[in-house]
Order: sequence, then structure tokens, then C-alpha cells
Amino acid sequence: MANTLDPSHAVYVGSFDPPTLGHWDIISRGAGIFDRLTVAIGVNPEKTPLFSSDERLKLVSELVVPLKNVEVLCFEGLAVDFVRERGAAVMLRGMRTLTDIESEFTLTLANRSLAPEIETVFLMASEQYTSVSSSLIKQIAQMGQAGSAAQLVEFVPESVIEPLLAKFHD
Ligand code: ADP
Repeated sequence: MANTLDPSHAVYVGSFDPPTLGHWDIISRGAGIFDRLTVAIGVNPEKTPLFSSDERLKLVSELVVPLKNVEVLCFEGLAVDFVRERGAAVMLRGMRTLTDIESEFTLTLANRSLAPEIETVFLMASEQYTSVSSSLIKQIAQMGQAGSAAQLVEFVPESVIEPLLAKFHD
């Protein structure tokens, strides 16, 4: 089983609610390292995201059009099960701060005990995106007024700005 997984195929797992420039940075760098990259959008029936899984799939799919070795899919259940199902040997994650290290470390140890054949690989956030998170940009979109779009352009891809503002101001 273990040797059937492809070490040149990575799966980048996250909520992407919505995708940010920090996510995009990891996706584009990951696509440059691995032969194949799958962006896996986690669907948790217990949580109510701002964007539905279909909306997140559309937003991320639009972003990755220029990257020919990247596909985007939604999944339910355990991330390691999804990674294994896709035949990938690598789970890709991004790392921003010390707080990320602590939680990602715990998650990685749990994933390793569930699926020792899958290796988690981390890319450090690029400096300008270390404080960018989906929750921060949701706060800016919700609380900001007319100037929000100008502020958001530093944090999210341009195609995300309008759908994001529409969630709060339509
Ligand atoms: P989750 O809910 O699984 O944390 P996210 O969509 O918030 O999902 O993040 C997915 C992955 O991308 C995580 O590994 C997270 O640390 C990483 N990530 C999020 N934002 C950034 C960023 N600005 N720079 C680098 N990595 C990031």
C-alpha cells in the first residue's frame, strides 16, 4: 500500500473560506515543487462557513487556471484519508507564526499516527503574508465601509473581493 502513493503528488488541505493571497502563495510555490498539486477544500458538515463548498471550489478553481499541474477538489472526512484516496504521498501545509507551529505540529503527529505513509511538508509563509488569514480578511470585509476593497487588495486575490464584500454589504 505505502509504495503505491506518489511522492511527487502533494495535497494542500485547508478551509479556504475564502482563499487569500497567503493561500495563493503556498499554491503557486507548491506547484513549482511538486509534479502534481491537489488543492483540497475541507467540507465540515458541523461548521457553517461564510462561503459554501461550491463557492469555495469556484473561487479557488478560478485562481489556479494558469497552473496546469493543479486541480481543486472538495472533500469530507479525514484529510489523510482523502490524500491516500488521491494516491498522493505528501500533505502540504503553510506555516505562518509560532502559534501555527504549535497547532500544525499536533495535527501532523495525529496524521502521522493515522497514516505513517503520508509525509506532511510545510512551506513558510512569505513575509508579506505572515499575518494574513481568512478570519482577518472576513473581519475587514465585514467592518470596513466603502474603502474595504482598497484594503482587501493587499490580502486577497482580486477575484475574491467582490464576492466577499457581497456577503456583508448586499
Ligand atoms: P485550516 O482551517 O485547515 O487552517 P486554512 O484555509 O486557514 O485552513 O489554511 C490552510 C493551510 O494554509 C494551513 O496550513 C495554514 O497554516 C496555511 N495558511 C493559511 N494562511 C496562510 C498564509 N497567509 N501564509 C501561509 N500559509 C497559510
